[in-house]
Amino acid sequence: MKFDVIIVGAGPAGAYTAYNLAQAGLDVLILEKEGLPRYKACGGGLTLKIKSLLSDFDLTGIIEDKINQVVFTYDLEQPVKLSFQKPVVFMAMRDELDNFLVEEAKKVGATVMANHEVENVIMFEDEVRVKTEAELFTAKIIIGADGVTSLVADKLNLAKDLEYAVAYEKELKVASDRLVEQRGKINLDYGVVAKGYGWVFPKEDCLSVGVGSYQTGVSLKESLKKYLSGENLIGNEKIKAKGHLLPVGGAKRRLNNHTGLLVGDAAGLVDPLSGEGIFYALKSGKIASQVVIDKLTEGTSLNNYTQLINQEMIPELKKSKLLSKFFFIAPEKIHKLTRKREWLLKELVKTVYGAKSYKELYKTFMSEIPFLDAIINQ
Ligand SMILES: Cc1cc2nc3c(=O)[nH]c(=O)nc-3n(C[C@H](O)[C@H](O)[C@H](O)COP(=O)(O)OP(=O)(O)OC[C@H]3O[C@@H](n4cnc5c(N)ncnc54)[C@H](O)[C@@H]3O)c2cc1C
Repeated sequence: MKFDVIIVGAGPAGAYTAYNLAQAGLDVLILEKEGLPRYKACGGGLTLKIKSLLSDFDLTGIIEDKINQVVFTYDLEQPVKLSFQKPVVFMAMRDELDNFLVEEAKKVGATVMANHEVENVIMFEDEVRVKTEAELFTAKIIIGADGVTSLVADKLNLAKDLEYAVAYEKELKVASDRLVEQRGKINLDYGVVAKGYGWVFPKEDCLSVGVGSYQTGVSLKESLKKYLSGENLIGNEKIKAKGHLLPVGGAKRRLNNHTGLLVGDAAGLVDPLSGEGIFYALKSGKIASQVVIDKLTEGTSLNNYTQLINQEMIPELKKSKLLSKFFFIAPEKIHKLTRKREWLLKELVKTVYGAKSYKELYKTFMSEIPFLDAIINQ
């Protein structure tokens, strides 16, 4: 079977790219190895900045909670409670969100084949052949949206130097009074895990509780146990528990060759400070779609994709990475300093939800705490 574009992976990056390409009239195939809908270990936090990308859709049925309170703690103590006038983060279950995007892509004409694991990709001068166990598909362009351990990246010899954090999360059934108490509020803790943070995210009828870290060799299960105990969540029924790698963004990499490109986690585009990846998956998918449409209609180069990602996304992720070093290397000192300057934490949240840039935030931190470098290097 022959298509204009084959997309490997039906996560947010793949489904949203397919939606944009099919809407422009291209013949698109998504190949997904899992059955759909599929579960993905993820907090499912969607920051406000995602709204502009998803403005075509009515997400009412997907959003499980709207967050206007953020509580920061250090090692489960010294809480800093921030309130916002309007919701700044939205909560979704990933199987529902991803499946919603897949269905939207189908509505505008994309073909989706679940339970089709791609096993090989063979590049030619002006076409690509994609093999699953039983079938062979051909396209003009391939898009790797196959996540952090991307086979497409491997076959295209792209983004092979990704840097990783690792995260582990449980979905817990909790008593209704705890759910009510957590409504509209997320808890974030720096200190419960080395070089990372823990989170409690409310969903409609459960809590997603997890820890993520840059540190190699750290036991995330032990850290999560400690966090659950500190949050009085020991003994609750576990619905799911799963770990996964996060590819940390901020480095310039080549993300395309002459007939293919990478989007989302496959391209290594997760925010180093917040761990947010869904927005970056969608944004890279949007940029990729336009570059692919231009190539197929006007004969322009896919090199524009790497260039645009380097211009529009990498500088911000780079600044986030610099800031993440302060937070993860000396969380106690940073928490102490920011507790006295709550407005700084508010600026941080504003940056994550898109009201400010990381470039501005970095400047603010540096001018407010000019001795930051020295403290961390003590
Ligand atoms: C514990 C945890 C919590 C997180 N919390 C948040 C959060 O709250 N908010 C946020 O924005 N981000 C969060 N992230 C990051 C976010 O989950 C990812 O950045 C996001 O899933 C990236 O989307 P994607 O489409 O690029 O990749 P994925 O969602 O990983 O999708 C890749 C798809 O490709 C498929 N696939 C892989 N290989 C093949 C193959 N060979 N053939 C066919 N199909 C294949 C997979 O089955 C999968 O469906 C979290 C991550 C973790 C690990």
